[in-house]
Amino acid sequence: MHSCERPGPGDHPRNVPVEFHANLEVFPQVAYTGPGIRIGLHVQRRKFLRYAGIGAALAGGLAGCKEGPTPAPSKPAASRVWKWKMVTTWPKNFPGLGSGAEFLAEQINVMSGGRIHVEVYGAGELVPAFEIFDAVESGSAQMGHGSAYYWKGKYPALQFFSTAPFGMTAMEMNSWLYHGGGMQLWQKAYDRFGLVAAASGNTGVQMAGWFNKEVNSLDDLKGLKMRIPGLAGEVLKRAGGTPVNLPGGELFTALQSGAIDATEWVGPYNDLAFGLHKIARYYYYPGWHEPGTAMECFINKAAFEALPEDLQRMVLNACRVANQDMLAEYIARNNDALETLVNEHHVELRKLPVEVTERFGVLSEEVTAELASNDDLAREIFDSYRNFLKKSRAWAEISERAYLNLRAG
Ligand code: CA
Repeated sequence: MHSCERPGPGDHPRNVPVEFHANLEVFPQVAYTGPGIRIGLHVQRRKFLRYAGIGAALAGGLAGCKEGPTPAPSKPAASRVWKWKMVTTWPKNFPGLGSGAEFLAEQINVMSGGRIHVEVYGAGELVPAFEIFDAVESGSAQMGHGSAYYWKGKYPALQFFSTAPFGMTAMEMNSWLYHGGGMQLWQKAYDRFGLVAAASGNTGVQMAGWFNKEVNSLDDLKGLKMRIPGLAGEVLKRAGGTPVNLPGGELFTALQSGAIDATEWVGPYNDLAFGLHKIARYYYYPGWHEPGTAMECFINKAAFEALPEDLQRMVLNACRVANQDMLAEYIARNNDALETLVNEHHVELRKLPVEVTERFGVLSEEVTAELASNDDLAREIFDSYRNFLKKSRAWAEISERAYLNLRAG
């Protein structure tokens, strides 16, 4: 590119301001160049010297351009504004999930000093909930906020990046993603779609769901039409039920009309907001099917790579902040909401019978293992997930479980 031409999205890093590279001196350990890819500072130092030279040449070149017939000089990257659309699977501002997407956008907008402006769109505002993956893949939106199990039709093994029945808790999931190789595998899977992956929220342990009839035995699952996404849906199917996948915004009507007999959504904080207690009597736990569901932010890779490196890292770190914040919000709000449901709305809280959860446990192992046989990457993801879970379960026995038992008295 001639120094007088306007920089395009693919022109990075030539239009990265020299000051940014100097700032890398503050972070001596590593620098992100993309998700899961770290390069040492010595490389950055070389780049710094190289770009410092380019910066000086550019400054000289721009002075000369003023008198030529060529277009106006480009804005330096620091003053450019990237306008991004974030499409979501959630109703606009829905507590925890939609508000989590807004929180993430706000972090990016403020932390970037306005250099990125992310506008959030609720489900159906720009595209329907389950079309956001395609929208970001095609570049018609730059970011998406959802959960990876919604895209099992694209690639079944993506479900491991949401949750697995009888799988990891939120704490274990984040440990696997950030320090157990999970994030690299997630990125490897999303490379196939030209997307950058980032975890951006977690619900913690969910509730098993809302039912209008009691579940006292395995027989009560026969013919049960239930909204339940992901691998757990397949488990229910093998237990005799009929799983349905619906976006959150359609649950109330589907249950009210009798199109479905039962639904799970998230937990008390979210379920109260949807008013599910108005149309279902029994509220079952525990959330065997979603023990720590991860939300995601995925970004069009070309759009991400067009950003200067400081903004790339800032976006990924904003996701990390949003990831932790959402989990904290759920844990902070769930019990108050549960008290409201039970004490004010007289919801009947029930525990699933052991016969049912034991069967779900056996089927869950079967279903997750089958997923691994699809292809090499699916096997790699499954092995990584399973091996990490094995280790974290061993540690949990003498840490979390031992302490929770102790506290319970
Ligand atoms: Ca759920």
